[in-house]
Amino acid sequence: GVTDPYYPAQAVVDLAAIRSNIARLVDTAAGAAVMAVVKADGYGHGLVPSARAALAGGATWLGVAQPAEALALRAAGVDARLLTWLTAPDAPLADLVAAGVDVSVASLPVLDAVVRAAGERGRPARVHLEVETGLGRNGMSYDELPWALARIAAQVREGALELEGLWSHLACADDPAHPSVRAQRDAFDEAVRLAERAGCPPRLRHLANSAATLTEPRLHYDLVRPGLAVFGLSPVPAIASAAELGLRPAMRLEARLATVKTLPAGHGVSYGHAYATAQRTKVGIVPLGYADGVPRHASGGDAGPGGPVRVGEGARARTLRIAGRVCMDQVVVDLGPDALEQAGDTVVLFGDGHDGGPTAQDWADAAGTISYEITTRLGSRVPRRYL
Ligand code: PLP
Repeated sequence: GVTDPYYPAQAVVDLAAIRSNIARLVDTAAGAAVMAVVKADGYGHGLVPSARAALAGGATWLGVAQPAEALALRAAGVDARLLTWLTAPDAPLADLVAAGVDVSVASLPVLDAVVRAAGERGRPARVHLEVETGLGRNGMSYDELPWALARIAAQVREGALELEGLWSHLACADDPAHPSVRAQRDAFDEAVRLAERAGCPPRLRHLANSAATLTEPRLHYDLVRPGLAVFGLSPVPAIASAAELGLRPAMRLEARLATVKTLPAGHGVSYGHAYATAQRTKVGIVPLGYADGVPRHASGGDAGPGGPVRVGEGARARTLRIAGRVCMDQVVVDLGPDALEQAGDTVVLFGDGHDGGPTAQDWADAAGTISYEITTRLGSRVPRRYL
């Protein structure tokens, strides 16, 4: 339960769940290396603790988007192999090279800047060339590829670069039958052939995120890059739940009821009175709101039932719905006329679902979004506690 008087809510992160999810992914990867993606503060679970748990579970690589995330891991003493992919020509590339961080190259200006950074530091930069295979986002486009590969091959010969990886990212991995998945695989294979012909075969080819790792072994290549699945959530909720995939959600978001009070029948609840009590009832005030990451789109009332909240213990445990609008710092639940809950009792917004309680996926469904957004947007005001 939540006992710290200074904080009415907490996110409890079960590091054993992260270790066990990684073990599951290592098993599925069947020989491909596992890069645990821990960007965005470990999908909200905490950058450094998540990274350490993933490494303890058997991941041999870490992946982040921003260079600052990579440098934060190094500053915390994490010395595992590490890739950062949101690089720009003005990124602190020399610092990354000095810190032994692998750098993604997705454009010719970044390639030039990485060569300069390696020269400045007097040591080779390890690069992963990202190729555009159909996502339409980052990645060296096909017409630039021969020139980029020739330049890389020359720099590899001079000892300025090591081509550690060749990689791309899928647009529709959560829909494995989508024709773009096959098309991107073919385009990727073609890029690998071009690199080999240019005389710089990559050491590692990588394409798969969580969904591809879990659904299609032909997309594994030499290394897989799961993120969401590391934290125990399903990347393919329309196909299989986390439990069906053998994953355990690592985060539980819980709060102490601030108040329990009685409202008469027909009483409006929260801003806009989008909800009204159907009877004389008790309501509980939960001290978490949109500033903490509870999505306002999961309000309850006119537009449908709100996000779920697990209330009570043992035989009295039940899942209720948010009554009315989500406020900045709080939400209201209608506990029913016979409720025994009191101020100070702990309620759970989402957890691992083992007791039939709600999960982050349920909140995503209630808000019309994806579970990624539920955990990554958890507010900085909510303390993370680690098991
Ligand atoms: N690889 C790249 C380049 C990414 O940007 C991400 C995250 O979006 C991942 C892998 C991990 O994706 P997922 O969380 O779907 O496994």
